[in-house]
Amino acid sequence: MYDYLIVGAGLFGSVFAHEATRRGKRCLVVDRRNHIGGNIYCESIDGINVHKYGAHIFHTSNKRVWDYVNQFAEFNNYINSPVANYNGEIYNLPFNMNTFSKMWGISTPAEAADIIAHQKTTIKGEPKNLEEQAISLVGTDIYTKLIKGYTEKQWGRDCTKLPAFIIKRLPVRYTYDNNYFNDRFQGIPMGGYNVIVEKLLVDSDVELNVDFIKQRNKYDNVAKKIVYTGPIDEYFDYRLGQLEYRGLRFETECIKKENYQGVAVMNFTAREVPYTRIIEHKHFEFGKQPITYITREYPCNWIPGMEAYYPVNDEINQRLYQKYAELASLEEKTIFGGRLAEYKYYDMDKIVENALALAEREI
Ligand code: UDP
Repeated sequence: MYDYLIVGAGLFGSVFAHEATRRGKRCLVVDRRNHIGGNIYCESIDGINVHKYGAHIFHTSNKRVWDYVNQFAEFNNYINSPVANYNGEIYNLPFNMNTFSKMWGISTPAEAADIIAHQKTTIKGEPKNLEEQAISLVGTDIYTKLIKGYTEKQWGRDCTKLPAFIIKRLPVRYTYDNNYFNDRFQGIPMGGYNVIVEKLLVDSDVELNVDFIKQRNKYDNVAKKIVYTGPIDEYFDYRLGQLEYRGLRFETECIKKENYQGVAVMNFTAREVPYTRIIEHKHFEFGKQPITYITREYPCNWIPGMEAYYPVNDEINQRLYQKYAELASLEEKTIFGGRLAEYKYYDMDKIVENALALAEREI
């Protein structure tokens, strides 16, 4: 008999497994994919770590989380500084003095603030949706060229139908600083994310290609408790309805050039370009290989059976999630955690923080 059955070998499940085994508990980790690591899994191709489920850049302001992940791998000094490509015009991200200067031919923070103040006069009161939030932060020019098309592609709905918090993830700065994140610590684990997950799971039993939901009879009683990190609605057989997600499709290509786009992340912000970004993986680790791998990222409608990437945290879905969360709180044997079970747009550091907190409460 195991102490914990952990459903999902992603970051949440793996951190919990590590904390449990470290405290002498026996853990079985199952995952329906054929590999561990969930969405941070990388495949090493020709010496380049290809982020198979989209770019993952670790960043945090939480010293404890940073020290925690650094036990398992050394992090490099990569700083995410993506560029936006709007029909061939190149702008620095996040929105900062470099962006403003290129957009308006200005050079001082005061000039930028004046233009934005002028462009946002149409927005009265507290911004009610992503469009209003974006315009009130950076004005209409940046909204039109760098936000509207990208966001509508990514989320498959109008910016007026999206919650404001999504755009608040991005810093707006009146300095010439292209660091995409405000966090104190940032980097990519040397050797890739798999190194971390392998170490986290070293003392657990792991079974891959196991769909817990389809094999409940077999797995329900192998452990005293279950930590479930899969989709919460699937756990309850969709009995209250389905939560919506945004899907992604990745097209990876090998290019026989040393350097394709000169940056790890290029966002294509025009509505007409069908993908949102191109990732050139080698730049995450300053690779010097003679060839390169790029991945085009196409957002798509999600249907059950596909990988669920982004929870659509609009009001309808949020309300449905709350009902599932009430059901979850009644489950005595199962604990729910992570992006899919909490239906939340989490960054990796928050996942580590939450898994550590759960372990402390629970074990
Ligand atoms: N966003 C945008 N233009 C960009 C980059 C981001 O409008 O060039 C907006 C878009 O609404 C997106 C949100 O900012 O959904 C959050 O972007 P982030 O890069 O944090 O998304 P992630 O990397 O998590 O997919």
